[in-house]
Amino acid sequence: MNVLVINAGSSSLKYQLLNTETREVFTKGNCERIGIDGSFIGYTVRGGEKQKLEVALPDHKTAIKHVFQLLEEAGFDQSKIEGIGHRVVQGGWYFPESKVVTDETLGWVREVAPLAPLHNYAEADVIEICRDMFPSIGNVIVADTSFHYNIPEKAHRYALPRDVVDKLHIRKYGAHGTSHRYIWKTTKELLGDDVHKLVSCHLGSGASLSAIQDGHDMDTTMGLTPLDGLIMGTRCGTIDPATVCYLVREGGYTIDEVDTMMNKQSGILAISGVSSDTRDVEERAQKGDAHCQMALDMFFYRTSQLIAEMAQSMHGFDTMAFSAGIGENSDTFRSAICKELAWFGVKIDEEKNSVRSDDPRVISTEDSKIKVLVVPTNEELMIALDVQELLSK
Ligand code: AMP
Repeated sequence: MNVLVINAGSSSLKYQLLNTETREVFTKGNCERIGIDGSFIGYTVRGGEKQKLEVALPDHKTAIKHVFQLLEEAGFDQSKIEGIGHRVVQGGWYFPESKVVTDETLGWVREVAPLAPLHNYAEADVIEICRDMFPSIGNVIVADTSFHYNIPEKAHRYALPRDVVDKLHIRKYGAHGTSHRYIWKTTKELLGDDVHKLVSCHLGSGASLSAIQDGHDMDTTMGLTPLDGLIMGTRCGTIDPATVCYLVREGGYTIDEVDTMMNKQSGILAISGVSSDTRDVEERAQKGDAHCQMALDMFFYRTSQLIAEMAQSMHGFDTMAFSAGIGENSDTFRSAICKELAWFGVKIDEEKNSVRSDDPRVISTEDSKIKVLVVPTNEELMIALDVQELLSK
């Protein structure tokens, strides 16, 4: 099945057209600066050179029209697109699994939008536009929170007053669920019966861990929002929640300023004082920059600490898998995190660790108690497979 996967943000719209059987990606791109001056679409066709179309994109509807024009130029008119998968950041209490778009399911995306206002409203608008413009193509909602929906209550409930929690739908929703689901699926395909308890490590500019036992999510590090858990590129991760009150009361910051500080001005960027990109930070640390070294040390410490927390929620683990920008590309990060976990019996083969490849692979030694893998994530494929499954029913 040829599936168009759409990932809409408030001012961007990423797309990818792929085939679920051959897994070939025909074309992909990103509409950037929607509603802002200087908008453009960067795209590639059949893995060719990156191209750039500078075009006015006043709104998402115009962006989608241009995407379909580019698809047609690449040889895919509407009749060749058999389904559209929409990545939705927050599924709230309505999406324990992916669902076909109907008036009702689209309404749910809007109803839970206050939990992720920057994303869900834009995503709901884009779903509606696709339905209206291309009524013959089926649409599917794939929520990033679905995989975490059934984690045990003792793991997802917050210790706040029950009436407040219930009224405002507060709980651990998690994020990166589609990626963690893909990492489990790929690890299982590779290891078969040798994997039961996996700590999935999605380490990119956003980063989260998931404790996955025989395909079921037992816990995850992100919470009500994607701010919780690990130290990230610009996000602080878990800190004492009273810090927020202190910053407002004593620091004189508004609540919006604290929100921006914690999401956009913290994490690796804040500790290093240099960059949110771990490549820059690593380079500076090697040249003796103490703040950059501290950013790395804190990242390794916190990540290994939370891996242990995930392992505890399954009463042990037999496998861990590294994924996303840092997890897939940085042998130094993998090595440093595994060293922190050596007392668990985690041992990696540095030669295997240094190999660059796009394939999922084992990098632990034969005698390591825990199998360690690198699994390049593929959220688009996971979304497309859901579309295929739901639309062929
Ligand atoms: P993602 O959000 O998954 O696209 O990951 C992007 C992040 O991955 C970048 O901001 C970098 O911090 C990190 N990254 C990518 N390549 C490398 C690398 N070779 N070494 C260290 N970090 C990397």
